[in-house]
Amino acid sequence: MNIILMGCPGAGKGTQSARLQSAYNLQHISTGDLLRAEMASGSALGKQVAEVINGGNLVSDELMISMLETRVKASDKGIIFDGFPRTVAQAQALEIMLQKYNRSITSVIMIDLPEEEVVKRLSSRRLCKKCGRPAATITQPVCACGGELYVRADDAPESVKHRLEVYRKDTLPVKNYYQHSGKYVEINGHQTPDQVFEDICSVLEKVK
Ligand code: AMP
Repeated sequence: MNIILMGCPGAGKGTQSARLQSAYNLQHISTGDLLRAEMASGSALGKQVAEVINGGNLVSDELMISMLETRVKASDKGIIFDGFPRTVAQAQALEIMLQKYNRSITSVIMIDLPEEEVVKRLSSRRLCKKCGRPAATITQPVCACGGELYVRADDAPESVKHRLEVYRKDTLPVKNYYQHSGKYVEINGHQTPDQVFEDICSVLEKVK
């Protein structure tokens, strides 16, 4: 299975990917995580990437596609693509890349969430430095795994506003790209993580 998990910022792509990874023994490739790892390495590229991400913009298609290809090439499992493709050019490149490695997309799952809910979620989101998961409550001092919690720089209100504009302009056309492929399914993201997971699993059970 090769799955694309789409959805606006804060829709729960990371949370659901982590669960799907263990439930279906898939490899989770999050392009956001790849970029944050580059930033954390302190490299010159990481510094350039930080500027782009913290401003709420997208990094170039070329960089993203080449970072992704390295992972796809090395993987011997089905893949969950989390946060990719974010532009139509990336969707087209992904199709060519998957053909090259004898793969194809099984399902494109869009986690749908109203914008008001996105703003609410991201303005209170704190993530764990150790396991990467969001804190379950606003008040807990540390993550359930014991890791330190932090706020992503691009979750600042101005960045979120801009990320949503970028999402509407560049990423929503990707939805149109897949909508009539016969592989596209929308899931209601305005439910508990357990309910969203259940809905995704019932889609995947039909195609696996
Ligand atoms: P995410 O963790 O998926 O929310 O991604 C965080 C940020 O990384 C995004 O707001 C973009 O700046 C950048 N990013 C992640 N994936 C992509 C992509 N496929 N294309 C371009 N930029 C990306």
